[in-house]
Parts: sequence; structure tokens; C-alpha cells
Amino acid sequence: MNMSDTDRPIHEAPRGKWLESFYPEIVPPEEGHPTIANFEVVNTKDERGKGLRTKRAFRKGERVARLSGVLVNRSSLDTIQISPALHLHDPWFSRMLLHSCEPNLVIDTTTMEAWPARDIEAGDYLSIDYAATEDVLGRQFACHCGSARCRGWVTGRREGPNEEGRAWLARNATR
Ligand SMILES: [Zn+2]
Repeated sequence: MNMSDTDRPIHEAPRGKWLESFYPEIVPPEEGHPTIANFEVVNTKDERGKGLRTKRAFRKGERVARLSGVLVNRSSLDTIQISPALHLHDPWFSRMLLHSCEPNLVIDTTTMEAWPARDIEAGDYLSIDYAATEDVLGRQFACHCGSARCRGWVTGRREGPNEEGRAWLARNATR
């Protein structure tokens, strides 16, 4: 017997869709979710670790992806902050976005959509400014994004540098 698409429960996508999405089965599939056809996880071979690379170009004004995950109340290295008390746990896609002080991606946390900050070419690593969404970072760090506007030491938007950061900034103040 052939089951037509209309016979399926509304939250169950055809099997093939799961395999192409960055998201596992617990995340209901939606149009615009990132797919392996458009993005790949790559090891940067430097201190940044794993990153996300696009397989195609995105022009400014063209949505890059609709983000999803599991809503949680606490931040972690796997979350993006949505509101003062809500965070999106997305270790599958958002977690892989690298930080840049001059990122090529911005996340609209009201719609959970990622948009280009400028034109993005195929093969580019996707980056966001962690301080654009996070009040407090689980781990502050010295940035090597290479931007002329690099802040050097990266913190959340509502916190100052920690002890390690203050020492780092003092060491690098003369540059
Ligand atoms: Zn930087």
C-alpha cells in the first residue's frame, strides 16, 4: 500500500528530510532549516576548532537559515540567548558558528533566522559576534578574528573582562 503525503502525521517528515537536515528528529522540520547540501562542518585546524562553511553564496537580504533547537533556561557553550531567561540549545548548527568581531552573519533572535551581514561566498566560514546575543559568555577568550575592529578580548555584552581578560588586556595594551 502506498501512503500519500497527506496521510502522514503533520510532524513527521519523509525519512529523507531528516538525513539532509542538520537537526535530529526531536526538532520538528521546518522550511529553511540548514541542510548538508548548503553547509558543512570543517575543522579549522587552529584554536577555533570546528567551524561551519557554506557550500554556496548568500547575498545580503537572502536568509541563510532558520535556526532551531531546544529551549532551555541556562546558557552553555551550545546555546544562543533569545531573551534574558531563554536560550536556544542548538549544538547541531548554531554551536558551530565561529566568533568574529566583524561577522558575516547576524542572528535575528525574534525570528531565529540567520541573515548575511554582507555578501557571503561559497567556501566562507560563517561567523557571528558572540556578544551580539550573549549577556554573559560561559568562556571569555582572546580573539584572533583578524578584523581591523577586533576587540581582542571577547566578553558578553553585559559583563566586563574576567581576571584572565584583564591580564590579557594589560599585556596587549601597548599595541
Ligand atoms: Zn576579534
